[in-house]
Amino acid sequence: MADEVLLSIPLKGYACYNLLYQEVAEISNLASQMNSVLSQDVLVLLRRVANLVIGDGVPLYLVGGLVRDLLLKVPSRDVDIVVVGDALTLARSLSDDIDGAAKIHRRFGTATVSCKNLSVDMVTARSEVYSRPGALPDIRPGSIDDDLKRRDFAINAMAIRLDYPHYGELIDPYGGRQDLTQRVVRVLHKRSFVDDATRILRALRYEQRLGFHLEWDTEALLRRDVPALSTISGNRICHELEIILREEQPEKVVERMNGLGVWRSIFTPLDAEDDKLSERFERARRVAGGAPSLSMYLSLLVYNLTESDVERFILFFRIQKMVAKVIRDAVRLKSMLGLLDGNVVLPSVIYRALCSYSPTAILAVDVAEGDSLLHRHLNLYLKRLRYVRTLLDGEALLGLGVNTGPLMGKILGELKDARLDGRVTSVQDEVALVKHWL
Ligand code: ATP
Repeated sequence: MADEVLLSIPLKGYACYNLLYQEVAEISNLASQMNSVLSQDVLVLLRRVANLVIGDGVPLYLVGGLVRDLLLKVPSRDVDIVVVGDALTLARSLSDDIDGAAKIHRRFGTATVSCKNLSVDMVTARSEVYSRPGALPDIRPGSIDDDLKRRDFAINAMAIRLDYPHYGELIDPYGGRQDLTQRVVRVLHKRSFVDDATRILRALRYEQRLGFHLEWDTEALLRRDVPALSTISGNRICHELEIILREEQPEKVVERMNGLGVWRSIFTPLDAEDDKLSERFERARRVAGGAPSLSMYLSLLVYNLTESDVERFILFFRIQKMVAKVIRDAVRLKSMLGLLDGNVVLPSVIYRALCSYSPTAILAVDVAEGDSLLHRHLNLYLKRLRYVRTLLDGEALLGLGVNTGPLMGKILGELKDARLDGRVTSVQDEVALVKHWL
């Protein structure tokens, strides 16, 4: 039972809270802040949902990241609505009203309504009970208090009421707003990380993204509960990892995971200081001119691992086939770079060394190595050599008297090398070379 006790709200003292009470009460209606921070299409959408329940007495709440970001004055389009009533029926009505499309997930009691470039997630207010650590929770319909109680951190456990006449009222039972001003990430109860250890990764993601720090008790609980991550499937961890890699500077989270020994409970081979990781991630962003692909980031993350550990990584995280090929290629290519040593390497040698690897893997190796000579060779392949084709094809060779079979393949290969190295530049050159060989 003691575990259920909420952690203390980090106020400087209740006297201070009382002093501010008047002010807090006055600004606890956020309607005008919503008007100034949210974009017009989001506001219109919120009002339309609210209009749909006028007279029905169905309380509606805006929840999650949008509320947090609104208080930080950061506009968000990530609209999550909790309905104390039937969210699925309301989602259908909204979809009709705005001429959108509703995707209903009956099993989870959730719905997503999309219209133009906006989408809204709707869910019936619920309470959650965890039968054992790492298990998915048992869900029952509940009140808005229940719904906020099941959330990860106080900064994410606030709601703004949307139905009239309560539109704009802030509900903040755990002091999330206070935490925003004190710049801390704080769990709602002592078993939070044990119930769902993915919250450990979420905590570090918010901490690093927002430039906050873990509240003192929360950090102690996190350190205590890091081993609980071993109760989470590779699949679920991979999902969190993908979200981390979508952050602006994911290396900050990855490094923090290292510092707290988080990798040890997820995937031990990654539990080693990689002093080049930040530099590589930054370089990847520069090269991509924005956010690099998931396969690029993952290749850089596992770049120092052995091939067999990379296979274990792929298996454990159930990495999707195409992404797996890229990261496997990158680590294999790393051990073949000796072939590209030296100032002068024939283009045909570069081509043969690289043609079986995926272009993203080659780019990842280029980024990871950061070596100017190697860059020249890899770049030559990526920009030019991989597109080179011979002018004669199999049919043309048949016309010249070459029979189908291994010889045909060999001649086509030799022709390609000659073309890559500039020894032939026209059809006549290629014909002459084939005749010479014959
Ligand atoms: P982001 O800005 O990263 O999208 P978000 O807060 O919208 O942040 P989501 O992952 O979309 O994050 O989740 C929406 C909300 O659902 C969160 O704000 C939080 O209240 C709740 N939530 C999500 N995952 C968990 C979890 N594992 N445990 C408890 N609550 C969660």
